[in-house]
Amino acid sequence: MSGSVETSFRRAIRGGVEHQQLVELQSVLDSVILSSATDRWYFSLFSSGDFSVKEVRLAIDNMVLPSHDVPTRWVKFIPIKINVFMWRARRDCLPTRHNLAHKGVSLESLSCPICSLETEDIHHLLFSCSLAQEVLKRVCRWWDLDYQLWSSFSEWETWLSSIRLTVHIKSILEGVFYVSWWFIWGFRNRFIFEDIKPVRSRLFDDIVSSSFLWCNSRTVQIRMMKKANSTIRQRNQKSEWEEEKEIMRVGLLVPEGFLLSHNLIFSGVTVPSSEGSPKKA
Ligand SMILES: [Zn+2]
Repeated sequence: MSGSVETSFRRAIRGGVEHQQLVELQSVLDSVILSSATDRWYFSLFSSGDFSVKEVRLAIDNMVLPSHDVPTRWVKFIPIKINVFMWRARRDCLPTRHNLAHKGVSLESLSCPICSLETEDIHHLLFSCSLAQEVLKRVCRWWDLDYQLWSSFSEWETWLSSIRLTVHIKSILEGVFYVSWWFIWGFRNRFIFEDIKPVRSRLFDDIVSSSFLWCNSRTVQIRMMKKANSTIRQRNQKSEWEEEKEIMRVGLLVPEGFLLSHNLIFSGVTVPSSEGSPKKA
């Protein structure tokens, strides 16, 4: 093959540098073995070499769409709107004053509208602001957990993963935090845009009542769905009872006086008796 290359030139090699380059070219070509197959179109983007609209769309999406190392988290015990809100918050896509200024919006001040001590970005608003600290402390006290001053979602996730709770209960706890941040964001918006300022002392009560109603209703729905499936799959009695106890634990986490004050009735939840068989609460 190297011989055919040299004969394909319009003139003979002069020597010197040209000769050296020819030698190098021949050494490269010596390792090339051409196939006897006929030429064909080859799509170099993928190893298969075949063109596919789907593969091209995925390749364009990977180049254009933003990617994040942290996977999207979804808590099934709370409404979709709050999961979407958290998806935006985790990606720092909420219109905080810091983000608005970054996009060229002219603002009178970048300070937090609630405490006026620091620039309002997502981490200050949901973690280090005095309002956020106050709310998150009370959430931890409600769940009998030690509060920590988190500064980011990653720190909070590390703390959450270190807590010893069942997967079911931990997911509800995560949902309660999401609801808390949702209410903090709503409080901030009302504080800025409404003439009548929101009442700070009611914020935690609203968080507890809403998160309890949302989580409880969805827990019952999920339980009913699982029970419906159990008639088909004949689930064993022990696992079903363990599930009942988990639901009870969630209910017991809500202070009894609070339940009465908000007229929240724990209907349909069973309580284990001393003999281990369920009875109505
Ligand atoms: Zn603040």
